[in-house]
This record gives sequence, C-alpha cells and structure tokens, in this order.
Amino acid sequence: MKPKIWLSSPHMSGAEQTYIKEAFDTNWVAPLGPNVTGFEKDLESYLKEGRHVAALASGTSALHLSLILLGVTTGDEVICQSKTFSASANPIVYQGATPVFVDSETDTWNICPIQLEIAIKDRISKGKKPKAIIAVHLYGMPYKVDEIHSIANKYKIPVVEDSAESLGSHFKGQNCGTFGDLSILSFNGNKIITTSGGGALVTRTESQKKKAVFLATQARDNAPHYQHTHIGYNYRMSNIVAGIGRGQMTILDSHVEKRRSNHDIYYNTFKDNNKITFLLEPEGHFSNRWLSCIQLDSYETREGLRLALEKENIESRPLWKPMHLQPIFKDAPSYLNGVSEELFNRGLCLPSGSNLSKEELDRVISAIKTYFAVC
Ligand SMILES: *Cc1c(COP(=O)(O)O)cnc(C)c1O
Repeated sequence: MKPKIWLSSPHMSGAEQTYIKEAFDTNWVAPLGPNVTGFEKDLESYLKEGRHVAALASGTSALHLSLILLGVTTGDEVICQSKTFSASANPIVYQGATPVFVDSETDTWNICPIQLEIAIKDRISKGKKPKAIIAVHLYGMPYKVDEIHSIANKYKIPVVEDSAESLGSHFKGQNCGTFGDLSILSFNGNKIITTSGGGALVTRTESQKKKAVFLATQARDNAPHYQHTHIGYNYRMSNIVAGIGRGQMTILDSHVEKRRSNHDIYYNTFKDNNKITFLLEPEGHFSNRWLSCIQLDSYETREGLRLALEKENIESRPLWKPMHLQPIFKDAPSYLNGVSEELFNRGLCLPSGSNLSKEELDRVISAIKTYFAVC
C-alpha cells in the first residue's frame, strides 16, 4: 500500500518547540502566560484594523462566546449559513436559540445575499427579528462582504464572522477575521495554522475582549475568595498551546502561498477537463485556498473519483453537507435555493496541505487523470 496522502495535515515550522520549552523552563504551564499574550499580539498585528484578540480553547468556544456577548438567549433566532461545518451552528443551540439556515450563492459558495434578505424579512414578519447572522468564509473564500454587511446594517443585525477556515484570506485588501461585529478563528489540527486545538475571538473593542476573557476563565469576580455573578466557562487557551501558535505565525504567509500554489497546479492541470469546474476568485476576493475544491459534472462522477482516490490511499472529501440536510437540524427554518445541496452532491475537496510534496501532488494528479481516462 502506498503511503497515505491526507487532505490537510499539521505542518510545523520548527520554531514551536522553542516557545514550548520556554513555557516549561519558566513553569508557565497554565491557561495564561507570556505565550498566550504573545500569540494574541502576533494575531493582532497580522489582522490589523485595530482589532483585539482573545486566545481560546477552540473556534467553537469563540463562536459560543460571540453569541453570549451579543446577548443571544433562549427563544432567540440566529441566522446561519447552511453550507458550513456543524460547529458554526451548534453554539446557537447551546444558548437555547433556534438556528435559521440560509443557502449559498454560486460565486463564493457562501451565504446568499438574496436568500439572506428574504429570510430576515420573513422572520421579522413572523414576529421575530434575528439576533445575529453567522457568515462563513468557506474553504478560505471570502463571502460577499459588501452585500452581506450592507444587508446586516440595513436591518441592524450584528454579524458573527466565522473565519475559522480563512486566516490569511482578504477582501479588497482587508483581512478576513476583521469584518464581523465579532469574528472567530480556529487553530484545529486541520486548519491553515494549528495549535493542535485552539481558537480565538476577534473583537472591535478592548472591553469586549475583557468580557470574553472573563467569561472564558470561569467568570471570577474581583474578590479574594471565589465569587461569581455570571455563569463562567473554561474556554481559555493554555500557554503551552499558545507556544505552538507563536511558532505557527512565523510561517502563516508561506502556508497560504503553498496552498494557493496547490490550487493553481490542480487548476492548470484540469481546467480543460469538461467534467471538472473550479471556484475562481471574484474581483476583490483573495482566498487562502485552505482546501482546493472542485465540482464534478454529477454525483456519480464525484463518488467515482472519491473512491478511485481512496483506492490509491489518497484522502478526499465531499464538500460540507449543508446544515438544513443534517438530521439534527431537519426541523430548523431554512431559506433555500438548491445551491448548497448541489455543491454537496457534486463537490470534492482534494489534498491541500501546505506540506504536500511534489511527489504527493503528482500522485494525486495522476490518480485523477487515470480515473478520467477510464470513466
Ligand atoms: C473548524 C471550524 C470551526 C470550529 O473550530 P474548532 O477550533 O474546531 O472548534 C467552526 N467553523 C468552521 C467553518 C470550521 O471550519
């Protein structure tokens, strides 16, 4: 059996262990310390726009705290892009609120401005104005920032920007992770940089960050004993994990470059194959190409290709299954145009890691060519 080629695997810079060793040497083995502060500073200087960053245990915990900061509570409704990972939507339910799913458009595969406005108007007419909108830059491709935010502003609904997959992407020169009223990042093992597990909340004010850190560290009031006036969470990032993050920040831009180059190689090799289509960057959109994704001409071609790659020990995966099709969310209100379902049926993510070697890419490409030569 040939060695496994992964979709997206951790890729260390070598600098991580220096920061981790420092944490051990100084006994900062806790969910606070110089690496946590340093990693937050690194992210703040990378993102720019004067944003504040709170390093947390995961992207999911960052989403949960976003909703808490926005006052989402039992009985509320929150709009969420349907085509995404379940972690975008689950925190809505943690808060006892109801997710309202909105379908995608074809230019970026992200939340559709037309369906979004239909959804907002319809929810308002039913007596409930949505409390927040969760928009996602899927696979690193920025959503239609101007359109989505202008609709959100028109109805005065805050946007939680799920930038878990899009660190290093930008729209009209401004970094993803800075567009939301609140934004979140993820450093899970498969993301563009990883801390093994981790995430961050990006805020516009220092006081929002303070509040998030307060809630993330068990909401301890200022007293010599343990006293609580709020329900707290254990969501802070550890100083060891943040050390990995500091090492990873040194190679973020080169990871983006390599992932973009993977995508270009697939594109240049297969652009004339009439059974394969690619997602191109619309004007102003710069994708980190976290995952290289293609659409096939049918479900059958997609499944055939996926299985052919699997036989070669190459990992690939269908595009995210939309939330409105997930058993757990089948009863949630949804505003649909068929786009995300079609993408789910015909789309495939190809191996995309920044650590893919030329030999590995060649193996993937030759497996795809062989498949199309016989099918
Ligand atoms: C990975 C991911 C998350 C969750 O981040 P974790 O750090 O794994 O909790 C949320 N949203 C999207 C779109 C993701 O891809």
